[in-house]
Amino acid sequence: MSSISSSPSLGSSTPVQPQPPTTSCVQTLTARSGAVLSVAYNQSYVFCGSQQGSIHVWRRDTYRLEATLEGHSGGCHSLAVDSNTLFSGGGDGRVRAWDMHTLRALYVIHAGVNSGAILSLVYLHSHRALVLGCQNTSLQWFSVAGRDAVPRDTRMRELQARRLRFFDDAIGVCTAQAAVTSPTPSDYEDVDQYLVSDSGIIDYAHSGYVYSLLADGDVVYSGGSDGVIKVWQASQGLALAGELERVASDVSVQALALDDGLLFAGLQSGQIDVWDLETRQRIRTLAAHGANVFALSVVRHCVFSASSDGDVRVWCSDLQTMGQIRTAGSVLALAAIDAAGEVLLVTGHGDSSVAFWDVTGMVAGGRDAAQALLGPAEGGRPGRRMMQALAQWVRFRSVSGVPELQPECRRAARFLRDLMQQLGATDARLVSSTPGSNPIVYGRFEGRQAQAAVFVYGHYDVMPAGDESRWASAPFEMSGRDGYVYGRGVSDDKGPVLATLFAVAELHAAGLLQMPVVFCIEGEEEHGSVGLYETIAEHRALFGEPRLILLSSSYWLGESTPCLTYGMRGSIRATIRVETSRNADVHSGVWGGAVNEPLTCLAHVLAQLAEPSGRVLVPGFHDGVRAVDAAEAAAMRDLVSFVSARDAAAPVLVSADGALDRQLMQRWRQPALTVHHVDVSTVAAPSNATLVPAAAQASVSVRVVPDQSLHDIAEKLRSHVEHVFEGFVGARGDALDALALKLDVTPIADWWLADPQTPVYRAASRAIREEWGMDDDPLLIREGGSIPAVPWLESFFTGAVAVNLPMGQSSDNAHLDNERISIENLLRGRQIAKLRLAKWYTTLTPKEKTKTIKEVSLVVLSRKPKQCNFIEHRDTKVVYRKYASLYFIAGIDLDDNELLTLEIIHRYVEVLDRSFGNVCELDLIFNFQRAYFILDEMIMAGELQESGKGTVLRVLAQMDETEAAENAERGWADINLEGVAKTAMLTVQEFKQSFTR
Ligand SMILES: [Zn+2]
Repeated sequence: MSSISSSPSLGSSTPVQPQPPTTSCVQTLTARSGAVLSVAYNQSYVFCGSQQGSIHVWRRDTYRLEATLEGHSGGCHSLAVDSNTLFSGGGDGRVRAWDMHTLRALYVIHAGVNSGAILSLVYLHSHRALVLGCQNTSLQWFSVAGRDAVPRDTRMRELQARRLRFFDDAIGVCTAQAAVTSPTPSDYEDVDQYLVSDSGIIDYAHSGYVYSLLADGDVVYSGGSDGVIKVWQASQGLALAGELERVASDVSVQALALDDGLLFAGLQSGQIDVWDLETRQRIRTLAAHGANVFALSVVRHCVFSASSDGDVRVWCSDLQTMGQIRTAGSVLALAAIDAAGEVLLVTGHGDSSVAFWDVTGMVAGGRDAAQALLGPAEGGRPGRRMMQALAQWVRFRSVSGVPELQPECRRAARFLRDLMQQLGATDARLVSSTPGSNPIVYGRFEGRQAQAAVFVYGHYDVMPAGDESRWASAPFEMSGRDGYVYGRGVSDDKGPVLATLFAVAELHAAGLLQMPVVFCIEGEEEHGSVGLYETIAEHRALFGEPRLILLSSSYWLGESTPCLTYGMRGSIRATIRVETSRNADVHSGVWGGAVNEPLTCLAHVLAQLAEPSGRVLVPGFHDGVRAVDAAEAAAMRDLVSFVSARDAAAPVLVSADGALDRQLMQRWRQPALTVHHVDVSTVAAPSNATLVPAAAQASVSVRVVPDQSLHDIAEKLRSHVEHVFEGFVGARGDALDALALKLDVTPIADWWLADPQTPVYRAASRAIREEWGMDDDPLLIREGGSIPAVPWLESFFTGAVAVNLPMGQSSDNAHLDNERISIENLLRGRQIAKLRLAKWYTTLTPKEKTKTIKEVSLVVLSRKPKQCNFIEHRDTKVVYRKYASLYFIAGIDLDDNELLTLEIIHRYVEVLDRSFGNVCELDLIFNFQRAYFILDEMIMAGELQESGKGTVLRVLAQMDETEAAENAERGWADINLEGVAKTAMLTVQEFKQSFTR
């Protein structure tokens, strides 16, 4: 869709509002089954009827295509809805009823014989009846409520009779129209069949096609190709109640709309007639459009009109045009959706596309889009404010490393800072980095606890757009198509940064943010993170002592299976330049042979960097590479077979069978050396093959992996290049000039590898599973690329663990043209961040929580002295053991209430400390999976040390064999087993077994 402005309506007879409200196309979807003829919606979906008869059902939240309803053999011209049912009127003379929740076909209604296409359809709520406007000029009444009054057998016989009658008639009739109105065998399958009875048919309601219908309580208005608008009174059927004054000539009435006692009629001439229904007088003819007005829609006392030339206009209550939307092609259908503070206009087009426009600003009387964005509450689509913010943020060409774009980077940074402030950050500011580099955006949201913090890392700088002609839409104007948004930076990394920011802001606003969260969003990531480390180190106090570093700056392995990234390669960049002392290019015919050849020398050096197999020739290069053990190889094979089965379309899966696991190994966990480009000093055209260049230069990079040392490899590369160069120079001592090597080797990023079995990763996995409704854990993947900040941050903030939660799919085209991200992935990404950061908090009210904790604690504590503690001698120390009662705690059915369990444990430990004072070892023993989750949470909250887990906490399943045996031998004399087992709802036998399992 093209973009939008509000502009004076050319050739219009009405004056134009001076204020230009704006709107934007938020999404374009493609139906791919011909022109979109009709649009309807409910809470969850938008339904679009197409020329080929299919009805596309798109989700309103993610724009994902949920279903395509098939059945009509002609175009789907009209749609109507009641609370649970969608009715579609087809070119085949049938109305189909669909369950709007399950999207299944319910039944079929056959219009009268030879009705032609059902061009318009309206549902009368008060009568639970449908009115059909037909191509054969008839109006037809069908009682949905009374549809079963005629027995099924009778209906089927009548259908059969019609079929036979049709074939008799067909000999004489033979119109194309008739051909599609005959019942076909497929109509009799599966679903119930109904017929409009003859008594419900008003023949010749108009002297032309009945293009438009509108219901207002018991009154129905119909508009025809005869240029007449008729008024009907509904009771058991329709009775003619009058006719509005005829339009001057036979101009089709294509669309009708009603607002506040005014009837609007969209005409073939491009005009809109406005009638006062009380007086039945035409009060105005608006020179609205230059072509056929196919559709009208009313929302908040604003009338939207759309025409076949692609022009959409909005009219306010004083009948003046308030704005205009220029769309790409003819608009045949319209729907205005007013949902929770947002108004979306849906336009159905002749080119089979459907577009969604945010017209909230337009109908709110020209309220500025930015104002709407930063309004107090989020309304409308899920993530609307986030998507609007993203659209605004993408407009800044924040390309790092380009001096003339530095002001743009700064503007992008300021935008983010302001957004953080408006979203409730207690501190939001720009932190200047080293001279010449872009500032860091810092933001802090307070949590309920003061101590441990979460550190969110991301970047607002982007890669250049490259050749903009290769983009389907402008790279710095976000554009939505088929469930994706396109634009530079939407996936890398502006979209994921905003998803995380909005997650944190929402938790903060709801008082659910557990730990403080600090944001560190840099502006030099694509440029080697220049100045980042110095700046963080200098402002260390701002960042506290984070335990969790959260980022989302990578991609899924495929398209459909959520992933969690736990490793990335490091990188070294090198520039190798060979120059001669002669300082100028020379003619090869004159000097060739007598002078040194810098490019030949460079080629020689490059040739000595790697074998044809790819193995790097730098001595000692491969020494540090960690060997692949059997478990890792097996895990890789599992991963490949899983993704291959699930995700055959993923672009990553291009290799032949069996090679993919090796390929992933090469990409993720083996080192690699790349020669990016070679350049020569000659300024003449490259085709000038008579010059000996005075200098030649190559860019090279190396990806390093565990356990290579970044600096050691950089040094080895340097000395290897020097060594090869010296060998070349030494072999040729008689040249007229001298060669010099200028070598720059820069370590950019260290490799990063996390342990995916740690609590932080297990918790992140759970959040992903929960949000996506997965049975299995997300795929654990690595990436071949590098993010310099990650390993650095982990080493700088001792004890912090980085988690990379990829939001984008493998087809996101980061760094390439047409970069995009799935809206669903962004919305779910935001939810995952919320789930992760909101842990320990439940939906219980504080009052309920306190009550439950008190009750449970009382029960536990009252039993403690008898059941829970005993003394054992281990080596030389005396150990109090408290198995039984904590086993009991975990045995309480707390469902998904981790917080509750945690708080009970806290309370209990407090009491134990008071009672015993010198507890030197405390074993918490749990008998089910949830226990692991709780331990993870405690560790992440800083309440337990992972390293101390073995001594402070011993999880049942981790007990070693010896200890299990000891326990079994020792007997249970000290414990009231009957009592404990009973409270844990186990038999004594089961209880014992749980200790020795
Ligand atoms: Zn990038």
